[in-house]
Amino acid sequence: MAIQLFDSLKREIRSLQPSQPDGVFRFYNCGPTVYAPAHIGNFRAFVINDVLRRLLELEFGAGKVKHVRNLTDVDDKTIKRARDEGRPLAAVTREWTDKFHADCVALNCLPPHVEPTATGHIPEQVDMIDVLMKKGNAYRAADGSVYFKVSSFDDYGRLSRVKERELQPGNALKAAAADADEKEDVSDFALWKAHKDEDGDNSWDSPWGRGRPGWHIECSAMSKKHLGETIDLHTGGVDLLFPHHENEIAQSECCNGRTFALHWFHNEHLLVDGKKMSKSLGNMYTLDDLVAKGFSPMALRYALLSGHPRKQLNFTLDSLHAAESALATLHGFRSSLPASGIVHDAFASVFTALKDDLNTPAALGALFTIINRRSGEVDLASFDQAMFALGLDLEKTTAPKSEVPAAVQAIAEKRWAAKQAKDFATADALRKDLAATGWSMLDRKDGYSLEPLKK
Ligand code: AMP
Ligand code: ZN
Repeated sequence: MAIQLFDSLKREIRSLQPSQPDGVFRFYNCGPTVYAPAHIGNFRAFVINDVLRRLLELEFGAGKVKHVRNLTDVDDKTIKRARDEGRPLAAVTREWTDKFHADCVALNCLPPHVEPTATGHIPEQVDMIDVLMKKGNAYRAADGSVYFKVSSFDDYGRLSRVKERELQPGNALKAAAADADEKEDVSDFALWKAHKDEDGDNSWDSPWGRGRPGWHIECSAMSKKHLGETIDLHTGGVDLLFPHHENEIAQSECCNGRTFALHWFHNEHLLVDGKKMSKSLGNMYTLDDLVAKGFSPMALRYALLSGHPRKQLNFTLDSLHAAESALATLHGFRSSLPASGIVHDAFASVFTALKDDLNTPAALGALFTIINRRSGEVDLASFDQAMFALGLDLEKTTAPKSEVPAAVQAIAEKRWAAKQAKDFATADALRKDLAATGWSMLDRKDGYSLEPLKK
């Protein structure tokens, strides 16, 4: 079975295949803005994309996937941070890039094959803007900024359906899309921003005067440079769908005259107490915050995988307790396995779940079902391949804390997956099965813990 994944543009689940004769799968994932620590919501996006990358490599071969993830190292936020701290922009973005890399290592995310920066690709961005100007898709405003003319691209809004809904007069999204007064039309967006005093020395020469690139053009230019004009998959969180990805499509397709990305995938948000995690709401956690509370980074990875990537996931500390307990069970199970050196298909159901629209909670459920049944086929090599796909490094978990038997954990994981799928009848039946084993499952807001029933 080929990997199946929801395509946000075609709005259906479709197979992933390399489109070019060299058989290399071209995959672009929008990376972080490096001006502060990435929060665990950002890491939901990066962990999900990491599982996807691992799955693609298992499917097509390690040398047959090219994964590009950019670093946004010049924009309003990075420049403001540098100005506030009285430091050069490059010093600020270097510090937060290093921190991002350290967190990625702790969370066992594979490094992308190429990690391009916006400041390292100014000529490529200028070249694309130049083509758009020559083709009549862009215009220079009086202040020296250059805007993309949205009305010049008939297909604008296909990804986000923005023409039908959001870009109505008075709509909030219209305000979000409006970033300057000099534009001919409110929905036009900046390709090049003319230098302003507050930009300091963070500007570059261009045919339109000194300035800096707009945010959207960087991904179009870096994707083109490192993956070519048509790529197989482009991903990011749902907040990037509009306007960022809509604008990327417009720029790239007008400039190159061909389809930009053959498949689009967007992960849903991580919520805290039902709200999107954000600095302004003060409900933001970083990996360090959780480590300071005694949780392992691997528990966070597990918790982030415990919800379906295309559904919102409400984060709670309880979900980390459940994750620690599950990891401890996996750790104990691994040390009991015989080595064989041959990968059997004992964990086929885990891969089936992952290949079915990246259903990570179902994959975790399937994993514990197998552990519970424990047939003769289960050996170290097969188990480690399943751990590789999920990116769970059991050596990076804290010492096993729980004595929950694997069979009990298996029922708990299945019940959790049933609850996630709102299959309450199955969840109730599994609660009874748990009671029969002498354990009870305490449901918290979005996680569980297991306790032995009092005799
Ligand atoms: P940024 O650094 O803001 O450009 O975001 C990096 C990635 O994290 C993007 O793919 C965003 O869509 C994604 N993202 C931001 N907030 C969340 C969240 N609360 N949950 C999941 N993904 C998020
Ligand atoms: Zn991007």
